[in-house]
Amino acid sequence: MTMREVTDEEFDLLIQRALAELPDEYIKNLDNVAITYADDPSEEQLVRNHVRHDQLLLGLYEGLPQTSRFSSGYSGVLPDKITIFKNPIRYVTHDDESFFEQIKRTAWHEIAHHYGLGHDRIHVIERHKAR
Ligand SMILES: [Zn+2]
Repeated sequence: MTMREVTDEEFDLLIQRALAELPDEYIKNLDNVAITYADDPSEEQLVRNHVRHDQLLLGLYEGLPQTSRFSSGYSGVLPDKITIFKNPIRYVTHDDESFFEQIKRTAWHEIAHHYGLGHDRIHVIERHKAR
């Protein structure tokens, strides 16, 4: 199985399309968060997030969740950052449709972290959403 080739421009467009397909209220309540992409996570990102060598990081949320901002003296100077990783998503998907769906799932997952949800809660919701 060969991995699909995707240019940065195509990947960026797919992310924009994925975000456009997420529920309006989910997107419109984003607050000071940049959504970007990279080919792969950096070694530093892998280490800091305790990603094992047999695991793939498809996306990453870095920042201060909305639910923690009130009590922490949040300055808002730096935006939260969500990065969607192109190569790991290429690796785990096998066609255009699954590639796009995984971008959408990954964006949804990382945005949930921005809203302050932890993995327990996220996995419950993902199970309910699963088709
Ligand atoms: Zn997560």
